[in-house]
Amino acid sequence: MHLPIADTPTVRRLALDLLRRYRGRLARVVGLQALATVGALALPFLLGRLVDAVATGTTADVVNRLGWVLVAVVLVQAVMTRFAHRAAMVLGEEVFAELRETFLTTVTHLPLSTVERAGTGDLLGRTTNDVDRIQWMVRFGVPQVLVMSATILLTVLAAVLASPLVAIAMVAGVPILVIVTRRYLRRATPAYLRNSAAWARMNGTLTESVEHARTIDALALGPRRRRHTDEVINHTWETEVVTLRLRVTLFFWLGVSFMLPVAATVLWGAWLVGLDLATVGAVTTVALYTMQVRPAVSELLFWVDEMQVAVASLARIFGVGLVEPDRAPSGERPADGRIEAEQVRYAYREGQDVLHGVDLDLVPGERLAVVGPSGAGKSTLGRMLAGIHPPTGGRVTVGDVPLVDLPEEDLRSHVALVTQEHHVFVGTLADNLRLADAAADEERMCRALAAVDATDWVNGLDHGLETKVGSGGKELTPAQAQQLALARLVLLDPHTLVLDEATSLLDPRAARHLERSLSAVLEGRTVVAIAHRLHTAHDADRVAVVEDGRIVELGPHEELVAAEGEYAALWRSWQQD
Ligand code: ADP
Repeated sequence: MHLPIADTPTVRRLALDLLRRYRGRLARVVGLQALATVGALALPFLLGRLVDAVATGTTADVVNRLGWVLVAVVLVQAVMTRFAHRAAMVLGEEVFAELRETFLTTVTHLPLSTVERAGTGDLLGRTTNDVDRIQWMVRFGVPQVLVMSATILLTVLAAVLASPLVAIAMVAGVPILVIVTRRYLRRATPAYLRNSAAWARMNGTLTESVEHARTIDALALGPRRRRHTDEVINHTWETEVVTLRLRVTLFFWLGVSFMLPVAATVLWGAWLVGLDLATVGAVTTVALYTMQVRPAVSELLFWVDEMQVAVASLARIFGVGLVEPDRAPSGERPADGRIEAEQVRYAYREGQDVLHGVDLDLVPGERLAVVGPSGAGKSTLGRMLAGIHPPTGGRVTVGDVPLVDLPEEDLRSHVALVTQEHHVFVGTLADNLRLADAAADEERMCRALAAVDATDWVNGLDHGLETKVGSGGKELTPAQAQQLALARLVLLDPHTLVLDEATSLLDPRAARHLERSLSAVLEGRTVVAIAHRLHTAHDADRVAVVEDGRIVELGPHEELVAAEGEYAALWRSWQQD
């Protein structure tokens, strides 16, 4: 299942909304460009005058004066062009910045289940390739389209003013132009959409192969992976060829439609001069205008083509914004910090429930261990209790308010999920800590680090909290990365923690040290520990045994062992190991 793609009306509406917000600035850019164009248009006009003056006989003085006016016009035009381009580029940057910021906000608020279902390749493709394509369009395309449209309009207008009769020849290329561009546009969008999708798939496949190279080696999936890679590359290549062919045909016919009007103007003009319906000067002026409009039309069409690519990318970017949120804050405030699950069901795939109606009341301050065979649904239950996904059925509440009715920041101040996969984000240590609480000051951050026993190594760093970490910065050891994650929890300060030990990567030497950090964090909070090994269960206040998506036994360790049920059997077999 892919992330949605916005349809054309939606793309048009959102793009127009965006441009409308920059209405005033757009008008300024067009206005400046119009001034610059008027300067450029004065040249053929003055040259035409010169031709007529020379043809009818004039003094060197008049020719000199016209010459100086020409120089002045060129200078003024150059200055105006500079300002027009500058304004256009700055505008392009601002529009792009807004687009990118909105997109990033949307991406970071996407429901996790949607991302998991769609695969990260799709999202990655949209955040990289598609954003790049748009960036190019917005930075250079939007300004150029504005500039060129203004140029074309004014040039044609000037030609008509110079001699309406001669200017008629300018339309000679228009029929071909209209036919080829329309044909092209009809075919281009679907072709470019297929092309973008193919690129996204190729990137996803390559990223996957690189990230999971070890798994691929271990399972000897190399040949199969290579075959798959060849397949996606071939497919991408094919979609590229299709779009390339479309472009080649387009450009051939464009060339024809550009040459036609110039030839037509000269021939038609010569005939009119013969009939005394136009002067040689007027024909010169219009012919020069026709030449002048060519690069502008060509540039505009180039951008119309690029725009097809950009619209396809924009459809994919705006599409991300169409994902339905999986929760909507209701504004209710929890009465207390008691977490309860009622008849909770969850299905990753429709119709395949992984949890079949789980009831569970957490006693504030207790430590509950969740045990059971692999695949029983422990991690899924953990994610429900932490409000990661809205349950498919039933509800999980804190103080009688469903977790998924809380705004995300509030939710995390109640309950947080702790896994053992800790990513160190690129930035300073302080940046990494402030992810938990953007307003945390240095003192609070230091206290949080002290709570997890990390003060020593942090103080040992050259720049302390301001040390750059993550990819390209200082490498943190896995244990340090975990401490950083734990310090974030201290800053978040939730009353309930769900600990998923699924991917315990602890280095045994670091483990004891970390265990201390961890118990400092757990102190005074309600803890749900998903135990993939039973020793954690033994120390817990209560144990919940999950089997096949249900809690089959619940109680203190001793009671469950005495009851001689599932848990007692698990416990005995574990002890024998
Ligand atoms: P446990 O933590 O007890 O090992 P899980 O909660 O991870 O069990 O998994 C319960 C069931 O849900 C398993 O059958 C597993 O294959 C399935 N499952 C887990 N995560 C996903 C997912 N992201 N998409 C689809 N199915 C999943």
